[in-house]
Amino acid sequence: MDHITEGHLYSNIINSLEEAARVIDADPNIIARLRKPKRALVVSIPVRMDDHSVKVFTGYRVQHNQTLGPWKGGIRYHQSVNLSEVAALAMIMTFKNSLMHLPLGGAKGGISVDPTKLSRTEKQNMTRRYTSEISPFIGPQIDIPAPDVGTDAQTMAWIMDTYSQEKGYACPGVVTGKPLEIGGSLGREGATGMGAIYCMEAAANTIDIKVNSSFTVAVQGFGNVGSNAAKYAHELGAKVVAISDVAGGIYSSDGFDIPKLLEYYKEKKTLKGYPNSEPISNENLLELKVTCLIPAALDGVINEENVNRIQARIVVEGANGPTTSAASEVLGKKGVLVIPDICANAGGVIVSYFEWVQDIGSYFWNENQIHQNLKQMIVPAFQRVWDMSQDMQVDMRLAGWACSIQRLQRAMLLRGLYPR
Ligand code: NAD
Repeated sequence: MDHITEGHLYSNIINSLEEAARVIDADPNIIARLRKPKRALVVSIPVRMDDHSVKVFTGYRVQHNQTLGPWKGGIRYHQSVNLSEVAALAMIMTFKNSLMHLPLGGAKGGISVDPTKLSRTEKQNMTRRYTSEISPFIGPQIDIPAPDVGTDAQTMAWIMDTYSQEKGYACPGVVTGKPLEIGGSLGREGATGMGAIYCMEAAANTIDIKVNSSFTVAVQGFGNVGSNAAKYAHELGAKVVAISDVAGGIYSSDGFDIPKLLEYYKEKKTLKGYPNSEPISNENLLELKVTCLIPAALDGVINEENVNRIQARIVVEGANGPTTSAASEVLGKKGVLVIPDICANAGGVIVSYFEWVQDIGSYFWNENQIHQNLKQMIVPAFQRVWDMSQDMQVDMRLAGWACSIQRLQRAMLLRGLYPR
């Protein structure tokens, strides 16, 4: 377990844990337990490649805490995946699930591989063997994986099928983020962006700003989270004035018609050249004078270097960790309302939870029910974070962690330590 703690992300998480523990004067025995995962699995995955050679990949599944319910968290395929990173991401899931009052613990998995270098067959073979290696440790009542960077609904379908073949019957509840035909949920695709916009609306209400055509929004990232956040912000009546992807951004003071922009992007695969827009760099987009900034691409983009140039009134952290902790503190002092990632981007895991509930009950909800239930979970979570930040006079990031640890601590103390 010891080299788990060596990674950069892991030590950042431990810092947040300790800072938040001080805010609520947490029990040191509880914090000592939360510093490390319950279980960390490392597996070798031999895969027959298309050229008939066998390549052995390394895979992980880290289960951090299961006090509140079965473990839940994504599976990432990326060349930078390592045990420490997976453990840190598993911890984040524990705290996100606790903050959202979900009856779930936190886990994460991954394979150290560049998935873009694999053929479809190689990716399928690797996924099935990885599933087989971790199958004694996952299941609808044990640990329920989901997609993350480099994995998608098809990957989940292969995991569900492999697990079900081994059991001898269909087990849709073993993973979420599946295609609809095999037990996926309506609304899962846009859930993270929609959750972010519910948070944005709640934040605006809290500080008494109306979401109308003078409420301007800039979104960094036009992938799953960014494009859906832009779409729902537009539907709500806000004016989305800037948007970007990896190649740069576009700006229009009149605001974009997002459905039209989505069509253009689908066809051209670029934002560049969109009519009546001017180019803007990713750096300048972050510094625009807008009501709301939604960083939905990368971590660390708002940092000590640019934080003093951020002019937004509200920052909605669509991505994981877009604001460094030092920058978050500065924004808090400047009066910028930052909705931290463990709240703002929790829409995905909330609808994953709904998918799991629907699979277990074998009864599926309509899209309207999904949206209503998502709103009913995420908005009160935002309110809890806001109240904590006001009561304890701390920034919203710290308040989010503090709320989450407080709830988890109560549950851990109620369950007690076995054996005494
Ligand atoms: P994605 O791959 O669908 O989209 C990423 C977007 O970021 C793309 O538009 C890409 O062009 C852009 N991008 C990449 N590099 C960039 C750069 N250097 N500068 C500016 N833009 C860049 O990913 P996603 O699923 O939308 O995830 C985005 C973030 O949200 C990640 O931090 C992810 O961990 C987090 N997140 C996603 C979900 C989800 O449900 N998809 C849930 C929670 C958190």
